[in-house]
Amino acid sequence: KEHFDNFGLDESRALSYNGDTIAAVATGNGVSGIGIVRISGPDAIGIADGIFRGKMRLSDAAGYTIHYGYIYDNDEKIDECLVSVFRAPKSYTTEDVVEINSHGGRYVLSRILDIAVKAGVRPAEAGEFTKRAFLGGRIDLSQAESVMDIIASESELARKNAVSQLSGELSGTVKSLRGRILHETAYIEAALDDPEHISLDGYKDKLLSVTEEISSSIHRLILSADEGVLLKDGIPVVLLGRPNVGKSSLWNRLLGVDKAIVTDVAGTTRDVLEETVRIGDFTLRLCDTAGIRDTDDIVEQIGVERSKKAASDARLIILILDAAAPLSDEDERMLLEYADSPMIVLLNKTDLSPVTRASDVKRLASCAVIEVSALTGEGIDTLRERIKEMFFKESASGEGVIITSARHRSALLSAERALSNVKSGIESDISEEFLTVDLMDAYRQLGTITGEEVGEDLINEIFSSFCMGK
Ligand code: GDP
Repeated sequence: KEHFDNFGLDESRALSYNGDTIAAVATGNGVSGIGIVRISGPDAIGIADGIFRGKMRLSDAAGYTIHYGYIYDNDEKIDECLVSVFRAPKSYTTEDVVEINSHGGRYVLSRILDIAVKAGVRPAEAGEFTKRAFLGGRIDLSQAESVMDIIASESELARKNAVSQLSGELSGTVKSLRGRILHETAYIEAALDDPEHISLDGYKDKLLSVTEEISSSIHRLILSADEGVLLKDGIPVVLLGRPNVGKSSLWNRLLGVDKAIVTDVAGTTRDVLEETVRIGDFTLRLCDTAGIRDTDDIVEQIGVERSKKAASDARLIILILDAAAPLSDEDERMLLEYADSPMIVLLNKTDLSPVTRASDVKRLASCAVIEVSALTGEGIDTLRERIKEMFFKESASGEGVIITSARHRSALLSAERALSNVKSGIESDISEEFLTVDLMDAYRQLGTITGEEVGEDLINEIFSSFCMGK
């Protein structure tokens, strides 16, 4: 309790904190030039002094300083390292933090961690450092969650969005909506307490318009969640087309490496391969398929069934046609079958003399047709731009907050429901004091996003999905 008073924390947050000193390997599990063991807690600096020998004692060091020396296990030198000292509250966790930069071998890092444990630290749980940053009040819950998103991001747009969430853009939007709701609730309560001085005449009209404004902001956030999922996980895309039109070649073009087998024999790409590929600013989750067609070959048949399944799960169908050959019955059948789905038609092999043209395709289906060549790479940029236009309106324009978390989305849906109860309450003219119940419900639901209104169980659940050392 005393510790938290020093940090200016409220008691509800202090309750879930046990004040011990924790440590973990904070860098990845592979072999690298350097690796970091991070120690955080009230005894971090004292414990580090027990295992580190340098020119000065770390206990005498100021925050934001780095010290050269060796980590020792009793009198045995374990590794040469640089040790950074951060003093509370100016650290990642808001506590005293020491980061030991040693060489990046898996064994040496686990050895240093063992020595620290012998000296009195407790191995940290997954996400515990970031949890302390949250409990310490340095970041709110949505910012803490964005830390994982940055680590997991695999494309420029996903990273950008996660960083904007870390810097508080989502928190700011949510806080301002909560502020407006609280303002109206306070006004109603003040008026009910003091009817002589504060009048509610005509107030319901004003409340209705404010509620509608807040609802529409929330609704926009909910809609952005669709884009958010695609940002985070990639767009599920399926490549369709007859054998030999160049599906594997195009796929390789996108991947940039030879991963699929490219041959001249019809039907050789038998499996549905799933792969995430980053093209430009975003990622595609790509399925290369044997193509949807009738076949007697039993092995191919398995591929065909899986292709059909992939096409129905996909958010985008890329149908590849051979520009150097006339449209076949099968091409036409596929065009018609998917004409109502989100589809881009690629006319491949445009480096050869063209037989089928975009206009031939457009007569059958009103979708985007792009002339490409897997051989020369022609048209791939256009494809990339086209997909970006189709799926990333908000993020591509760089405006607005995008919801990427299912937890945030469901809180927003609950808040929207509560506000729609407020609206119907106003329309059926119920008394103001009942309106405040739903207003406060919306207020609390929004508060779960930033973490003001969440219980310890949920907090533990969220942080336990973090990776070790974070
Ligand atoms: P898939 O069966 O649809 O996967 O087709 P592949 O990718 O295996 O390609 C079939 C054949 O067409 C191979 O010989 C490729 O080299 C060739 N091919 C693919 N794309 C192009 C292209 O854009 N131009 C030319 N000239 N040949 C291509």
